[in-house]
Amino acid sequence: MITPEPHDLADLVQALHAEGTPWLPAGSGSRLHWGPPVQDTSTVLSCQRLNRILEHAVGDFTVTVEAGTPLRDLQETLRRQNQWLTIDWPWGSDAEGHGAGTVGGLVARGMAGGLRQRYLGVRDQLIGIGLLRADGVAARAGGKVVKNVAGYDLMRLFTGSWGSLGLITEVTLRTSPQPPERRGLLLQGELGPLDELRRWLLSSSLTPELIDWWSPAVATQAGADPQHALLLGLASVSDAALRAQCLEIRTRAEQLGLRGQPLDPERLEALRAVALGHPEPGGWLLRFGTLPSETSALLAERVLRDLPVVLGAGSGLGDGWAGSELPAYRVEELRRSCVARGGVLTVLQQPPGGHVPAWDDVPSKPMIEAVKAQFDPKQQLARGRLPGVRDPLRP
Ligand SMILES: Cc1cc2nc3c(=O)[nH]c(=O)nc-3n(C[C@H](O)[C@H](O)[C@H](O)COP(=O)(O)OP(=O)(O)OC[C@H]3O[C@@H](n4cnc5c(N)ncnc54)[C@H](O)[C@@H]3O)c2cc1C
Repeated sequence: MITPEPHDLADLVQALHAEGTPWLPAGSGSRLHWGPPVQDTSTVLSCQRLNRILEHAVGDFTVTVEAGTPLRDLQETLRRQNQWLTIDWPWGSDAEGHGAGTVGGLVARGMAGGLRQRYLGVRDQLIGIGLLRADGVAARAGGKVVKNVAGYDLMRLFTGSWGSLGLITEVTLRTSPQPPERRGLLLQGELGPLDELRRWLLSSSLTPELIDWWSPAVATQAGADPQHALLLGLASVSDAALRAQCLEIRTRAEQLGLRGQPLDPERLEALRAVALGHPEPGGWLLRFGTLPSETSALLAERVLRDLPVVLGAGSGLGDGWAGSELPAYRVEELRRSCVARGGVLTVLQQPPGGHVPAWDDVPSKPMIEAVKAQFDPKQQLARGRLPGVRDPLRP
């Protein structure tokens, strides 16, 4: 992995372009192997030395950082001002955010966890971006103020681009005040009543930070009963308001025959850390997507009953992992099930020698390929890996 000094980056990318050398943009390199294999990984260009926090406009609730800034450093800096970036620690990090990777990597993968329930996804926090195109020319979009911009939306294009369109060098993100009070609830019981509670909750005026489905395997791992669960996280400026919300939810849950366990903030964090899990190096890591109304039906699938799965009850997005003993045809079955439920399944990691495509072609494939051709005409970047395209055109 090459880790160039910031002032050498543009020259280096221009030289790679002139030679037509394939290369892979990288942050800290923590999750480069996830997703489809890249055809040529001899040149990996890391942004790790682009690691400055350029401006934290505390009063404006924005922060501008270089792309190689570790997410952990950013959250630590914001915390000193009682602010935060409303994003979970990524899978595979620990509860303190060790191994969480860089902010550029976070944007390039565009994935978010359960906190999306209240705060939406990574792209919704992004208000400005600086990048180097494949030909080494610098480009910029958005700004440092929270507003909508007209025109070509580079921010959304690069969020989830997996390094296939250009090198992100700088991002401006919106920040939020730390909620002073937090509480949690773990609700357990049969899937049917849990789903009814989920529906009631989503149509109520309550705005939990988190409504995560847990499969029985995750509940067991967390020391709870081996049954499905809903983990709720609630946040507010007032503890009295939180107590009232918890009471309302528990009353409703009891009417439905569910058991509720109140969680103080420390316990909530500890349980979330267990659920975060550490995918086995040689196993499967699967990203599920389904219509939110279909989440309980997906969890009822036979193959998912024994696997650790965490699924956002309001977003329908989540992750599951399994050892190498899970046969590939079961994963294909799950993919068909997700598609039938209005979603997708992405294989982030699979056992060695596995041949399940990371993703299938999406309906907008022709447009994705046209954008790729414009941004990277020589097909140099992340060759063989283009989100939404099963077999990207080879040069
Ligand atoms: C709750 C949650 C769950 C997540 N789960 C997963 C998951 O299961 N799998 C996963 O892969 N990610 C996941 N992510 C995203 C995760 O944050 C990133 O993968 C991680 O930040 C990568 O950090 P890194 O710096 O080590 O990037 P790397 O591992 O170096 O790179 C990751 C990807 O981003 C690209 N990339 C990195 N930096 C840049 C840049 N500056 N410009 C252009 N492209 C770049 C790389 O080409 C590669 O495709 C999750 C995030 C959250 C919040």
